[in-house]
Amino acid sequence: MTRDHRARSLGAHALAPETLMMGYGYDPALSEGSIKPPIFQTSTFVFRSAEDGKRFFEVAYGLREKDPEEALGLIYSRINNPNLEILEDRLAIWDGADKALVFSSGMAAISTTLLALSRPNDVVVYTAPAYGGTEYLFDRILPRMGVATVSVSDCGDAEVLDQTIRAAAAQAKARGGRLAAVYVETPANPTNQLIDLRAAADSIRALDQAEAPPLVVDNTFLGPLWQKPLDHGADLILYSLTKYVGGHSDLIAGACLGRADLMARVAEMRTICGTITDPHTAWLLTRSLETLHIRMERSQANAAELVRRLRGHPKVEAVLDAGGAESSPAQQAVFARQCLGAGSTFSIRLKGGEAEAFRMLNALGLFKLAVSLGGTESLASHPSSTTHSDYSPEAKARCGIGDNLVRLSVGIENVEDLYADLDQALGAI
Ligand SMILES: *Cc1c(COP(=O)(O)O)cnc(C)c1O
Repeated sequence: MTRDHRARSLGAHALAPETLMMGYGYDPALSEGSIKPPIFQTSTFVFRSAEDGKRFFEVAYGLREKDPEEALGLIYSRINNPNLEILEDRLAIWDGADKALVFSSGMAAISTTLLALSRPNDVVVYTAPAYGGTEYLFDRILPRMGVATVSVSDCGDAEVLDQTIRAAAAQAKARGGRLAAVYVETPANPTNQLIDLRAAADSIRALDQAEAPPLVVDNTFLGPLWQKPLDHGADLILYSLTKYVGGHSDLIAGACLGRADLMARVAEMRTICGTITDPHTAWLLTRSLETLHIRMERSQANAAELVRRLRGHPKVEAVLDAGGAESSPAQQAVFARQCLGAGSTFSIRLKGGEAEAFRMLNALGLFKLAVSLGGTESLASHPSSTTHSDYSPEAKARCGIGDNLVRLSVGIENVEDLYADLDQALGAI
């Protein structure tokens, strides 16, 4: 039986994302029956006729609307490519997005999206702590382009975020611009502080502004399995695919997903900035998507067991897992509403300071000392002296990034082996 490669159900039975990852959006008949998509390692595509070329460009350049049944013709690999399209179609399924676009890095996705959304005199609100590159973009680069940016910390408190959003909208009006976006990273790195997306969406909806600013969520830490921001009022989702989705610490890529009208603006900017990824990376990511669920489930189960054991450990002062036992009741309530799991990146506060943290890190045998997260192998890092070293002492204190904080990204190894490694390293303090 030949199946429609875009069917998302079997008769009346709806198929789950993990099933669709094996074949959705790829027709083997178009590629000599090859069960897996070949890599379309090509810069440009041959038009069957001059008329086709004309029609394809009309759609690509927005000179006319696409017919409902019409697929965008293949033109040039800075605009589209079969490997990218297969990957984007599959990625969109997990979050229930209209459309996904893939980029050459997480930062390419984030910066291209912000360029697409903002204009001079606009204001953008963003939550802190944010990923270092994101922080730099908002703090240093967007202001150079006439976009004012407002950072909000203490944002576990929905009231603070609400006031900041309202004040930023007023500031935008006074500047003759708009509040162009509210940008949220949740859980925050490295503290796993959660931001209430529904409360942020409600604050935006209550604004008196002709076009509501999109709520943009960096979902790298828990997505796409454990947090689905579009279900909680978000308009756009961003990913560093380098992390869980790529999952093997062997590539750099990013994505933006969401509503069709907003994605059209992001697509325009991606085409012009040229921040699309290449066919080989897209092919690797398509392969990674086939095992995404089992990798994320296993690493989360490992992390949950390590959290359980570390919480009682004599060398450990606190364990910072998303919505965990040591977080506030308000944070736990947000977790219960918004998250489907705690993921597998968490931090521990050791008893002691930098010296103790370094002794532990240097004693690790299995956990590798590296930044990044979400790979099959476990990693450990010291945020205060590496990823967050450019924070002022006040900012570190506000965000809870002490010298005794160690971040762990848990992989899919045997959990007894991982605990044995942590336990012996803690013993070396
Ligand atoms: C890694 C990361 C990024 C940046 O992604 P790159 O792929 O390194 O460009 C953005 N946000 C978060 C939360 C990240 O962890």
